[in-house]
Amino acid sequence: MGEMLVLIDHTDGAPRKISLQLLTAARKIAAETGDTIAAVWIGEGADDAAATLGEHGAELVYTWDSDEAFAYVTVPQVEALQAAIEESDADTLLFGSTNHTKDVAARLGIRVDGGVITDVTGVAVEDGRLVCTKEVFGGDTITTSKVAEGKMQIIGIASNAYPVESVGGDEADIEELDVELSEAAQVAKVVSVEKQVASDRPDIGEAAVVVAGGRGLGNEEGFRLMEQLADVLGAGVGASRAATDAGWYPHRYQIGQTGRTIAPTLYIGSGISGAIQHRAGMQTSQTIVAVNKDAEAPIFQIADFGIVGDLYTVVPKLIEELEDRKG
Ligand SMILES: Cc1cc2nc3c(=O)[nH]c(=O)nc-3n(C[C@H](O)[C@H](O)[C@H](O)COP(=O)(O)OP(=O)(O)OC[C@H]3O[C@@H](n4cnc5c(N)ncnc54)[C@H](O)[C@@H]3O)c2cc1C
Repeated sequence: MGEMLVLIDHTDGAPRKISLQLLTAARKIAAETGDTIAAVWIGEGADDAAATLGEHGAELVYTWDSDEAFAYVTVPQVEALQAAIEESDADTLLFGSTNHTKDVAARLGIRVDGGVITDVTGVAVEDGRLVCTKEVFGGDTITTSKVAEGKMQIIGIASNAYPVESVGGDEADIEELDVELSEAAQVAKVVSVEKQVASDRPDIGEAAVVVAGGRGLGNEEGFRLMEQLADVLGAGVGASRAATDAGWYPHRYQIGQTGRTIAPTLYIGSGISGAIQHRAGMQTSQTIVAVNKDAEAPIFQIADFGIVGDLYTVVPKLIEELEDRKG
């Protein structure tokens, strides 16, 4: 029994959806381990978020609000987490699995002699330790893994693996962390940050619904159809590598082994064959819908609902039907 830490990712002063999902995971774990939940908030805004974090189960927020937090690449955040671990004496840290946080977690694991498990879709507690489920090899294999006894458990949870649940807790207390950056933390300086996303659509890593298009779209224009479908559903738009390599959609929207890992509640893929490298990025989606004119396409092996047909016939009908139902 002790404290469990939850790294809160935030944007424009508000916790991201994944962070509130992490608090749900933390509460489920804490129900068995008896731990209390402490959030870790790096950067400004912890005071304003304390009520939301409390409402979702955090009792305490460790924060480090410094210009240095994001002035250097990755390591200041590692050192802030290290300070939170030392302060709390926690043996578990949960974080939302993204490319950036995996970088942070790997470095932290070395610093604190901990074990890192990423892209976890489910956690059970056995003898007070976490047993983590994840899908590997493009979803063909499910593994359960745990960190060695006595070592810090640093666990990256996949997006949408847990729901967001408010439990109506009191505003969390705030505790400032004392972080003295090492020289090593100040080696790689961030020179500029430019926001690339000029879209009102949700980020595909967090969206509950993702609409994805592949080579079967035939051209860049096909993505206007994907965007139309996405907008009826309030979804994010993703793409296969064949589509991003062709220049039809920006690379930052690529789903798969060398792109983003997503786990929405609903994934709709059109004109995507379902190569293993694509599946590696989307197979944990809760419901998979595939539209493909080839009934033998491998995507149908993992689809919950498959539509064999020309996407240019099927998708406009789908949009029409959805619009009708929305009234
Ligand atoms: C190291 C490595 C890493 C990779 N990383 C990734 C990655 O991160 N993400 C990724 O996606 N891929 C990745 N790939 C590439 C991957 O192997 C596939 O080549 C790619 O996913 C294929 O994209 P696609 O399904 O859009 O195209 P295709 O495989 O060409 O499939 C197109 C599909 O569209 C269907 N189709 C065609 N016209 C229509 C129509 N009018 N209506 C309906 N269906 C139609 C076809 O039947 C076909 O099934 C990687 C490959 C390697 C080697």
